[in-house]
Parts: sequence; C-alpha cells; structure tokens
Amino acid sequence: MKTIAILGSTGSIGTQTLEVVRANGDIRVAALSAGRNIKLLERQIREFRPRMAAVWSEEDAKSLRTATADLPVEILSGMEGLRAVAVCAESEILVTAIVGMIGIVPTIEGIRAGKDIALANKETLVTAGHIIMPLAREHGVRILPVDSEHSAIFQSLNGEDGRQIEKILLTASGGPFRGKSCDELRAVRVEDALKHPNWAMGQKITIDSASMVNKGLEVMEARWLFGVELSQIQVVVQPQSVIHSMVQFADGAVIAQLGTPDMKLPIQYALYYPQRRYLGGARLDFAALGSITFENPDMETFRGLAYAFEAAEKGGSMPTVFNAANERAVSKFLRREIGFTQIYDIIRDCMDAHRVIEEPDVQQILDTEKSVYERIESRW
Ligand code: NDP
Repeated sequence: MKTIAILGSTGSIGTQTLEVVRANGDIRVAALSAGRNIKLLERQIREFRPRMAAVWSEEDAKSLRTATADLPVEILSGMEGLRAVAVCAESEILVTAIVGMIGIVPTIEGIRAGKDIALANKETLVTAGHIIMPLAREHGVRILPVDSEHSAIFQSLNGEDGRQIEKILLTASGGPFRGKSCDELRAVRVEDALKHPNWAMGQKITIDSASMVNKGLEVMEARWLFGVELSQIQVVVQPQSVIHSMVQFADGAVIAQLGTPDMKLPIQYALYYPQRRYLGGARLDFAALGSITFENPDMETFRGLAYAFEAAEKGGSMPTVFNAANERAVSKFLRREIGFTQIYDIIRDCMDAHRVIEEPDVQQILDTEKSVYERIESRW
C-alpha cells in the first residue's frame, strides 16, 4: 500500500488525484491541503481520513476544526501547514497540485524529507529548477511529472538512454484562439478564454493555455526535467490534443505517447511508476479521428511564447519574472481589470525592467516575485 500527501487537493489536479486513489483502492492518503474551499476539504477528510489537513487562513482552519471535531485529524494553516503536509512522516509521494509559486518552499521541504514528488505545480521548476533538480538528486528522490506533456516525454523515454535525445517535440493544442490575429486577440473576453477546446482545468492554467504562456512554462519545465538545451525543445501545434508529446532520438526515431485528453492517466502513471495500471474511460478511435494535423506556433500573435523562450535563454531570475508577471496579469484579466493581450504587455514590461540575478536562491526568487508584484501594482 502506497501513502501520499497532496498539496492543493481541492483543485482540478487534486480532485482527479483523489479520483485515481478512489478507483484503485490501494493508496492511503496521509495529508491534504487546500486554499479556501473548506467545504470540499471537509468532504475529502471524511472520505479519505488523512491524519493531517491544512488550509491557508487560520480563520478557515478554526471553522474546519469545529466541523471535523468528531475525526482524528489535525488541522493546520498558512505556510507552516503546507510545510507540515509536505513532510508528513507516513507519506512516500508528495503530489504538488497547488497553483502558483507558493508551491516552491513546500516542494523543497518535501524533497529534503525524502518524498518522491508527483509534480503538477510547474511554477516550481520554472522558477527554481536549478535548485530542485540537484536537490532531488542529492536526496535520491524522483521527480515524477504530472503535466500531460512531460508525462508523455517521460513515458517515451522509458527504457531509453536520455543522452540520446536529439529533440523534444512538445505538443500544444493552440488553445481556443488558434488562428486569430493580433487585433482579434485584443478583443477576447474572459468567458472566451476560459473555454478550452480539449481540456477541463483550473482557471489560471486555462487562461495560460489560451495565451500559450502555458506552453512557454512547459518549455522551461521540460528543460529542467529532462536536462536538455533550450535549442533541443520544439513546440509543435497539434490541435486535436491526441499526441501528448514526442521525443526524437539521435538515430532519427520519434517516440510519442498518444491518448484521449484525460489528466488521470499522467496522474496515475506518476503515482504507480514504473507500473502501468488499468484506467477506465474513452479510448482513441483512430478511424473516427480521421487525421492528426500539425503546424508551427504563431509566436508573433501569441508573443507570450516568444517571451518565455527569451526568459529561459536569459535564465537566472528571468523565468521568475516571466512567471510572476504572468501570474499577476492573469489575476487582473480574470478580474476584468485588463484586456487579454495586456497580459503580454505586463510580462514584457517586467522583463525589460529586470536585472538578471544568476543562480538565485529561494529568498532571491521570492524577493524577485515580490518586486514584480509591486511593479505591476504601481503601474498597471
Ligand atoms: P486549481 O486552481 O484547480 O487548484 C489549485 C489548488 O491550489 C486548489 O486546491 C487551491 O485550493 C490550492 N491553493 C491555491 N492557493 C493556495 C494557498 N494559498 N494555499 C494552499 N492551497 C492553495 O489548479 P489546477 O489543479 O488546474 O493546477 C494546479 C497546478 O498544476 C498548477 O501549477 C498548474 O499549472 C498545474 N497543472 C494543471 C493541469 C490541469 O489539467 N489542471 C495540467 C498540468 C499542470 P482552493 O481551491 O481550496 O482555494
């Protein structure tokens, strides 16, 4: 029986992780954490009986303690709560399904405590990949990708020599605005951006997918996870979201992982790796599908992707600036305070204003995040 802890159990990845746990019946959940959705967290506590649970505010923690007074569960709050969940003694795997840079510190604590990381929280590797990957090696823990593209690459590399990777072909659906012009993109509304053609995900990543900033974050994530150069990563638009990514090897062979778009597959693969298990749900019907098409991404219209390559190339603290600026700009867009393409303008402005810190430590990463937020608040 495996034991896991989940950061962000009430979100899209968190709830699907618990669906995988429910369907398999042989994983124990030692600890859960949520932000503000204490109603759902209470239901999860009643069903999965963790020893510990954490929420962000102490006020919510008090309400949850009262609501779960009949259960043997310890309720914690704030960063201390996230840290406690990350290092919870019984768990072997920490699922990082929390959104945003708040995931960095608890992920580092989890690695130091020897937990394998089932990593969904891409912001961790984007901003602190240079800290996370060597730390994981030092502590002998595995970073198991949950992001579907990275899981596809991971699966394509099974049994292969990673040194023979010629190229990673990172696929992208192109999102709901594929084919639109700059002018058309300027006019899109929040409702349009939240309608992803193939995947149902949390709000922030859905907007990131529409802007293609998500693909940029994935490029940075892939570089750390698979130890390749930026020049070895190519983004390929594949609108049907059937090929989840591919690896081209030194002999020209291309190995891909295909499937219907269902996050439960990469989640389950990470939890049981290297075992493959039965997973219910739709199967690919190639005849019904008819064709799978490919195109290059339009990096002039979707300039966030070009900025991501630039931020990755500059390295150091620049990916943190890219990520933090995008995080804040997306919240502003969701609150209807800015237009869609102003997300790109904000990222550009923050990147232009930043002096790169090489090899930033965690405090410098968090300070950079804070200064980006302050800049945006004072100017936008
Ligand atoms: P959601 O917005 O659906 O869920 C985020 C989770 O984080 C929720 O449980 C939320 O709690 C919790 N959370 C937010 N802020 C805090 C906080 N301050 N303290 C504690 N918990 C907090 O996001 P997703 O599940 O979509 O994404 C999670 C991560 O996985 C992201 O990094 C995303 O990029 C990545 N990812 C997601 C994919 C997907 O298909 N959804 C695919 C690949 C990667 P609450 O809701 O209770 O406030």
